[in-house]
Parts: sequence; structure tokens; C-alpha cells
Amino acid sequence: MPKWTLTTEFTFDSAHYIKDYNGPCGRLHGHTYRVQIEATSSQLHASEYCPHPVMVADFRSLRWAKRDVTQGGLDHGVLNEVLPEKYETTAEMIAQYIYEETKKRVPEDVTLKVRVSETPNSWVEYEDE
Ligand SMILES: [Zn+2]
Repeated sequence: MPKWTLTTEFTFDSAHYIKDYNGPCGRLHGHTYRVQIEATSSQLHASEYCPHPVMVADFRSLRWAKRDVTQGGLDHGVLNEVLPEKYETTAEMIAQYIYEETKKRVPEDVTLKVRVSETPNSWVEYEDE
């Protein structure tokens, strides 16, 4: 079976704190979050912006989180105020949130992996099989 894997990377700048964390992470501070989204499919699709079935998923649908917080993204927001309450703002749960929100924006058969990094040397990856 054919298979395409598309990867896109972007950053956004936001503030957060970890609730009840005993240490510096418990105080409001910021990160340049780096996000990689891997989208895999065995067929190509049209998109909201292109009527022809020529892509796994539209980059514009995958990169929504890069937009300003006032435009529905996560950039320049306080993540504790932006994410629904069930998500703590650890990289693990930010990855899960981005995964779930991105899943709503891509064709149903597209498989996603979302990686989030807060610092240059650590990444977390989330997928749901
Ligand atoms: Zn932090």
C-alpha cells in the first residue's frame, strides 16, 4: 500500500506554569515551544483551500497552533488560560491537546504524531492508535 508521511515544524511563544509544582516550573514563565507534526496517509485528499486530491493534509490545517492566540492559535497566550481545564500545561499534555485539535482539522484516515519541545534538548511525542 502506498504511504505518504508529511512532517511540518513550527514554533510559538507562550507563558505557562505547572499547577502545584514545587519549584521554578510552578511560577509563570515562558518558552519558545517547538512543535513537529507528522501526518501519514495511504491516500491523498483535497482540502478546504484546494479542490483536488493532491495532499495528505493541508499545511494550513496542521499549523493552526502557530497562529496568534486571538486568532485561534496558541502564540503569545498564557496556556493555563487557553487550554481547557482537563489539560495541565506539561509538554505531554500540550502535545495531546495539539493532537486532538489537529485531528479535527484533517481527513479522518490521516494518522498523526505530535512532538512538543520546551527546551533545545527534550521532546515529548504523542500519538493515539
Ligand atoms: Zn515551563
